[in-house]
Amino acid sequence: MVQVEEMDVIPVIGLEVHVQLETKTKIFCGCSTDPDGNPNTNVCPICLGLPGSLPALNEAAVEAAIKIAKSIGAKIADETSFHRKNYFYPDLTKGFQITQYDKPICIDGEMEINIEGEIRKIRIERAHLEEDPGGLQHISGDSDYVLIDYNRAGTPLIEIVTMPDLRAPKEVRYFLAKLEKNLEYLGVFDPERDGSLRVDANVSLIYKSDIESDGSISGKVLEAANRIEIKNISSHKGAEKALVYEIGRQKNAIIHGREIVQETRHWDEDRGITMSMRKKETEDDYRYFSEFDLPILTGDWWKMYIKSIDIPELPEARRKRFREEYDLENEVASKLTSDKKVADFYEMIVTEFDPGLAARWVADNLLGELNYRGLGIDDVENQLDDFRKLIRLVETGKITEKNGKSVVLRKMLDKKISLDMIIDEEKLDIINEKGVKKFVFEVIDENESAVEDYRNGESNAINYLVGKVMKKAKGNADPAIITKILEEFFEQERKERKGLQ
Ligand code: ADP
Ligand code: ZN
Ligand code: MG
Repeated sequence: MVQVEEMDVIPVIGLEVHVQLETKTKIFCGCSTDPDGNPNTNVCPICLGLPGSLPALNEAAVEAAIKIAKSIGAKIADETSFHRKNYFYPDLTKGFQITQYDKPICIDGEMEINIEGEIRKIRIERAHLEEDPGGLQHISGDSDYVLIDYNRAGTPLIEIVTMPDLRAPKEVRYFLAKLEKNLEYLGVFDPERDGSLRVDANVSLIYKSDIESDGSISGKVLEAANRIEIKNISSHKGAEKALVYEIGRQKNAIIHGREIVQETRHWDEDRGITMSMRKKETEDDYRYFSEFDLPILTGDWWKMYIKSIDIPELPEARRKRFREEYDLENEVASKLTSDKKVADFYEMIVTEFDPGLAARWVADNLLGELNYRGLGIDDVENQLDDFRKLIRLVETGKITEKNGKSVVLRKMLDKKISLDMIIDEEKLDIINEKGVKKFVFEVIDENESAVEDYRNGESNAINYLVGKVMKKAKGNADPAIITKILEEFFEQERKERKGLQ
C-alpha cells in the first residue's frame, strides 16, 4: 500500500446553491409565496399538481434570474426552456419537478472573491430556474408520520452551479457571503426567510501532483475523483463547518488507506457531522423530458426583454465609488455599503451634510448603536428622519457630538421616542419647535403695535417680532424656523378672517 500523507492532497469544491427568489406569487401559479400563515393555505390545483392543471410562467421569476445573470457577468441564453425531472417524493405531488435541463437561462458567469487580499476568480457554470417542492416536517420522537406543507411548493428557485474552483472551506464562506449580499442588493432574495438559501457542496481530494503548473485541474482528473455531495446546508457558516468536517473525514480515510466512495451525504447541523444518505443518482434516473406546457423563451422579443432589465450598482462597485466620491476610508465605505438600505440612506442625507460627518454618524454612531442592540436599519425606519435632524443639530453646534450620541441617539433607540421629546426631557440647550411656538405666542400677545403693522402689510415688522422671540430663547433657536412659524400663524389668521366675512 502506498503511504499517503495529508499534505499530498488539496480539497476541490464546487457548489450548487439554491436561492428562493423574492416574488409575490409562485413560479407557475398565482398563489402567494408569503411564508407566514397556516400550512396548506397558499395552494391551488397547479402547485398541488392536480391532473389537468396547467402552469403559467411568472415573469417576476424570469426577471430576477436575468438580474442575477447580469450581476455575475453571465450570458443569458438566446433560447431557454423547461423540463420535467421525474422522481417520487411526498413533497412533490406531480411526481416530477419542473426545472431546466439542457437550456438553462444563464451560462458561464464568474464572481471574484477577495480572501484577505488575495483575489480568487470562481467560475459559474450555469444557473437555472425551478420550482421548490413542499416542505416536510418531521415530528420528533418515534412517531410514525411526517407533516407536509405544500405552501412552499412552487416557490421560485434559482440554482446556481459553480465550477469546482473553490479550494478551501473558508473560500466557500466568502463566496456565499458575497453572493448573498449581491442577491440582497438586487432585491431578489431575503436572507431572513427560513430556508431561502440552501447549498449542496461537492468536495473531493485531489493529489497535488495531478494539478497543472498553472493551477488548473484537468476534466479527466476531476471526473475520476470520488466526490462527495453534501446536502442540506442552509447558511454560509454552515457550509464552512460541513466542509471542514467532511474534508477531515476524507483525509482520515486516505491516511488509513480506506477508499472514499462517491455518495451523497447529509449535513447534520446540530451534531456537526455529515452522514451517508445514498449512492449518488445519475441523470438517467430522472428521465428528463421537455415541459411543453410552458413557453420556450427565445427570439427577438426575448432579446429585447433581456436588454430592458437593469440592475443596480452592486456593493463592491458602490464601495469603490463611495471611497472616491465622498473621500472615505475603505473600512467606512465598506460599512456604509454592506447593506443597501444603509447605503441608500447615506446617499440621501449626504447631499445635506459634510460627507465625512454624515459617514461618521451613520457608519459609527448609528450602525454601532444598532449593532449593540441587535437591530438593523429596517427596525428604525420611522426614526431615520429624526436621526437626520439630530445630525443637523450637531452640525450646527446646537448639541455637542458627545451628547448627540451618548444621550440623544441612545435614548431614541432604547425608548423609541421622538427627538423633540428627548430634547424636552433632557432639557438640552436647544429650543425645539414646540418651545419656539410658545415664545411666538407670547411675543404676539406682548407686541400689539408691531403685530398690527404686519397685518397692515408692513412685512418688515416680522423681523422685529423674530428678534423678540430670539431674545426669549436666549439665542438658542433658529431664526428661519421662527420666521416660518410666525408667517404660518398670520397666514392662518388671514384665512380665518376671510371665512368670517
Ligand atoms: P452532476 O452531473 O453530478 O450534477 P456536475 O458536473 O454538474 O455533476 O457538477 C455538479 C457540481 O459538482 C458542480 O458544482 C461542480 O463544480 C462540482 N464538481 C465537479 N467535479 C468535482 C470534483 N472533482 N470535486 C468537487 N466538486 C466537483
Ligand atoms: Zn398555486
Ligand atoms: Mg449537474
